[in-house]
Amino acid sequence: TEYREGMMNKLLVSHEKEQLIRDAIENDSFFMMFQPQYNLHTRELRGFESLIRINRYGRVVYPGEFMSIAEKNGMILNIDRWVIKNVMESFSEVLRRCGSEILISINISAAHLLDKCFLPDLRQALEETSFPPRCLEVEVTESVCLASVEHAVVVLNQLRDMGISLAIDDFGTGYASLNYLAKLLKIDKSFIDGIVSDEGADEFVRAIISMGHTMKMEIIAEGVEDDEQLSILTEIGCDYVQGYVWNRPVTEEMSKTMVLKLA
Ligand code: C2E
Ligand code: CA
Ligand code: CA
Repeated sequence: TEYREGMMNKLLVSHEKEQLIRDAIENDSFFMMFQPQYNLHTRELRGFESLIRINRYGRVVYPGEFMSIAEKNGMILNIDRWVIKNVMESFSEVLRRCGSEILISINISAAHLLDKCFLPDLRQALEETSFPPRCLEVEVTESVCLASVEHAVVVLNQLRDMGISLAIDDFGTGYASLNYLAKLLKIDKSFIDGIVSDEGADEFVRAIISMGHTMKMEIIAEGVEDDEQLSILTEIGCDYVQGYVWNRPVTEEMSKTMVLKLA
């Protein structure tokens, strides 16, 4: 029946995605792009968000196509580990040469953050690559709390003790329970999309910004695409932006060049 065929298609598709990830791990065909973040008022470079891709016979595959499968089948742990090592190796030298306070942020999935190997692995990677911990920012979504708030808080506190910064990703879509640990709130793109046309969205973002500032956090707007959004964000006191309006994600080489320009 049609229903069965639909199921078959779905299974095939997810099976293919799984194979895609296995192949990528085996053939080492992951690569990273880095999206610049800027201070909205001074326009200074704040840092970069690291974003993973797969190179599949010359075609770029985006995380939207494989992350949810990787999270379901546990391969996310391998992927995140690869990202940590790769990003630290890439930037360690450049950051020490540049001497300025650029932040490199890495997305960590909830499952990985709560895995017992996360902190030991991270410590080891920092040591092996001599990456300066104060230049590292870890991005987590509030879904880390779904499993266990206590456990998440222990891990996040240890990150802080190691001198690593914490950002709450996709803010506004979760539970807002980790705020007091984070230095940076990343306002989800869905709110930025509505900010020009929709009065409500505008008020909501204003409220998040003022709450964040009261709690001594900085605020970055994600997915900013045009000047009109920029001017509203400036007016309502947002601190940083990341979005196509100023930069799409750039290559490793380009991002290093941007850092070295600051030296
Ligand atoms: P995210 O963490 O919310 O990352 C922001 C996404 O928005 C990125 O998509 C970025 O390319 C995109 N973006 C940035 N500015 C704009 C804009 O102005 N307009 C639009 N339309 N999009 C913009 P990307 O790279 O496809 O990543 C999607 C998601 O995959 C990320 O969402 C993150 O949750 C996950 N992800 C990406 N890289 C990694 C990684 O290395 N590890 C883990 N665990 N997850 C990752
Ligand atoms: Ca992110
Ligand atoms: Ca986000």
